Amino acid sequence: MGGQPMFILAEDTQRTRGQDAQSSNIQAGKAVSEAVRTTLGPRGMDKMLVSDSGDVVITNDGATILNKMDIEHPAAQMIVEVADSQEEEVGDGTTTASVLAGQLLVQAEDLLEDDVHPTTIVEGYNEAAQLALEAIEDVTLDEELDDDLLESVAESSMTGKGTGDIEADALAETIVAAVQQVRTDSGVDRDSITVRTQTGASSSATELVQGVIVDEEPVHDDMPRSVEDATVAVLDLDLEIRESNIDAEYDITSVDQLEAAIEAEEGELRSYAEKVADAGVDVAFVTGDIEDRVASYLAKQDILAFESVGDSDAKSIAKATGAKTIGSVDDLESDDLGRADHIRVEKFGDDELAFVEGGAAAESVTVFARGGTEHVADELERALNDALDVVTAALDKGGVVPGAGGTEIAIADHIRQGSAGIEGRKQLAVEAFADAIDIIPRTLAENTGMDPIDALVDLRSRHDNEGIAGIISHGQTGEIGDPVEHGVLDPAAVKREAIESATEAATMIARIDDVIASN
Ligand code: ADP
Ligand code: MG
Repeated sequence: MGGQPMFILAEDTQRTRGQDAQSSNIQAGKAVSEAVRTTLGPRGMDKMLVSDSGDVVITNDGATILNKMDIEHPAAQMIVEVADSQEEEVGDGTTTASVLAGQLLVQAEDLLEDDVHPTTIVEGYNEAAQLALEAIEDVTLDEELDDDLLESVAESSMTGKGTGDIEADALAETIVAAVQQVRTDSGVDRDSITVRTQTGASSSATELVQGVIVDEEPVHDDMPRSVEDATVAVLDLDLEIRESNIDAEYDITSVDQLEAAIEAEEGELRSYAEKVADAGVDVAFVTGDIEDRVASYLAKQDILAFESVGDSDAKSIAKATGAKTIGSVDDLESDDLGRADHIRVEKFGDDELAFVEGGAAAESVTVFARGGTEHVADELERALNDALDVVTAALDKGGVVPGAGGTEIAIADHIRQGSAGIEGRKQLAVEAFADAIDIIPRTLAENTGMDPIDALVDLRSRHDNEGIAGIISHGQTGEIGDPVEHGVLDPAAVKREAIESATEAATMIARIDDVIASN
């Protein structure tokens, strides 16, 4: 044998192996998590992301940042996936999860340098992750999740997201009220809560609307803009004359005949409006066009009507009011009509919005959020969605744990204690996992302007002597304290998911020792 080497890969394939491959992957993963680290926690900074086309997003949200960053390196891309799956599973904790994944890679790099085999690292990390899940269960609060507690959870997820403290308080109340509204024995129907933002006022003007809001305006100025106890029709049709009517039905040769034709047309248009009125409709949402004259007849009957209503708006109105969508006015029966306590149209700058509140089939609520500018409104929308997700997760996915790094300190402690019983080099990997967890309290301390080493020492000693301790930040400063006492609480599911997804990504990256890239 020997002699000619055998080529099995295309000529321009790039191949990196062994330590080079590991180190390049680890560097890439670290770089990504480092990029979001400064945004962690209430005193975290925001990032401004500018796209190719010049669109600007200002945000503090880990998943949003990573997705807008246009990351290409495959290992770095895996950290982005950590943030994405975190967002999908629990809706919050994306920065925590990606920072943790990055730090697990930093620790893995040290272990590799100390000749700990990748498989040993993987085993150690997996065992440590199990210990972490145990610790999370241990620190889960056993108090009942009443509204006060849930509001703290909501507020903890919003602090640092551009909302002021006082606003966060009021917003948290709105969030919990929204969740309670759509909560049944089988859980929270999160899809029935919509967040809708509108610029032009400060976020303190945010309110909970018992129903849906649609972007529609009345077809006629003389129509009422507010209707109480409204009977609602959702019509999938046009209220206008089919083009060819006059030519087809009348052979017009004289003025008399023309007048008759016009009258017949008027009559038909009027009959549309009459049929709608006779059915007892107060408010009509029409997907097609409404002829001006029909609109004016409707207005005379004090009927509020909207035209060109979009499909999804029509659907949500039908769902909220219990109306059936009807394809012809001739078929209109009282059975088909829906009901709402109050329908009103309000003007916001150039936009008009229709509020449909207290519908007969009211299962939907809308958090109507106001922000001064588009960027503020967008970040507020993300914060409110996070808050809705954490309250939902707290109720449906296993309760709440102390925030502010308190749970992470407890996790690291539990892992270190557990590592004592683990033999050989695997013990090093388990301990390294505990060291990686420290990145969360350390970063919270750093972002609050505290010395991270001092803070960790303080946190550990307080944890040993008095129980759970975290970096509580309020206003400009931070101090070591009891997160539960200060109402800093996160859903247990957020911590669980962060541990699981970060471990999975880090062990996957650490195991790779051969990168084969075809160009
Ligand atoms: P993530 O994307 O991971 O949710 P955040 O920027 O939202 O990142 O920060 C979440 C962290 O901030 C959690 O560890 C949470 O406990 C902590 N936190 C929230 N409010 C406070 C507070 N008032 N003081 C200290 N830490 C807080
Ligand atoms: Mg958060």
